Amino acid sequence: MSHIAEEYYVAIDLGATKTRIALCDKNGIIEKTVYYTPRQGNEYTIAESIHSKIVSMWGNKVDKIKALGIATIGPLDIKEGRVVRPANVPIRSFELLKPLVKTLKKPVYVVNDCVAAAWGEKYYGDAVNYENFIYLTLSTGVGAGVVVDGNLLIGKMGNAHEVGHIVVDFTSDLQCGCGGRGHWEVFAGGANVNKVLRYLVEKNSLNIYSELKEKVLSGEQIDARKLFEYYRKGDPLAKKAVDIYIEATAAGIASIINVYDPELITIGGSVFLNNVDILYEPIVSRVKTNTITQPPIIKPTRLGDDVGLYGALAIAVHTPRKIVEIQGKMISRIIGEA
Ligand SMILES: [Zn+2]
Repeated sequence: MSHIAEEYYVAIDLGATKTRIALCDKNGIIEKTVYYTPRQGNEYTIAESIHSKIVSMWGNKVDKIKALGIATIGPLDIKEGRVVRPANVPIRSFELLKPLVKTLKKPVYVVNDCVAAAWGEKYYGDAVNYENFIYLTLSTGVGAGVVVDGNLLIGKMGNAHEVGHIVVDFTSDLQCGCGGRGHWEVFAGGANVNKVLRYLVEKNSLNIYSELKEKVLSGEQIDARKLFEYYRKGDPLAKKAVDIYIEATAAGIASIINVYDPELITIGGSVFLNNVDILYEPIVSRVKTNTITQPPIIKPTRLGDDVGLYGALAIAVHTPRKIVEIQGKMISRIIGEA
């Protein structure tokens, strides 16, 4: 690596499946690595894996690291900088801020991944010139980060904008992972694709042949990737499920527009980014029928898969005032003790 900077930052995007870590300067990513997030261990295993990755890859630069930002899956306890009972990682809860500050002796700011991604859009993405915007992810789940009047909204635990749990159909029987019914995420979370398909098959609303229907009846688990493969092959059941996805997502986006009045919405997340050609146009055209305010610009994020890393970098370099208020004191105390 020939790049030499005066000071470095480390950005960490901690997902349920993969962890991405990047050495950065304040302008962007210099070098990155991706590995599978540990699924077993204790409350320190994940922090230890991050620490050893940083030391093994960039050990000779640790002195020049100014700060680290972590964009993590939730739910987050932002005051403690830890993740509590995540839906898709079997480790019950895990510490991030405390062990990493202790071992690296640097400020480590820990923020919900969608909240971080919105901040990343402000400094490295499409939101540079906006004061009111939303980053939306359509992936395993549905979530958002929101900036209103230039302020990044955080919430009391750091879990603001759980937009996936907006009720888009209050007559629905379909139950969300959170226990509620008719939530946006039931219809548009990648984790719930099989649930929607089984519901459609059981309702028996399809009386023409569908290869996908046969698969569902045989008990095969269908994920988002397979659903969209069948859609591309013209399967009628896949078409129904994708139509529901589009309707629910248009309703959800219209709701967040009505609540936050943004100028811009950027959309990321693997389900959306892999299927922009199918989803973008129909979603945007349906949003307009349910908004009371002038619709914002809606576009796929140009930061792609790296939106979480840029979010973490933005948190480390341009730490939002509220995050410093919440985590700064504890960070100084731990560095002082070390
Ligand atoms: Zn829910």
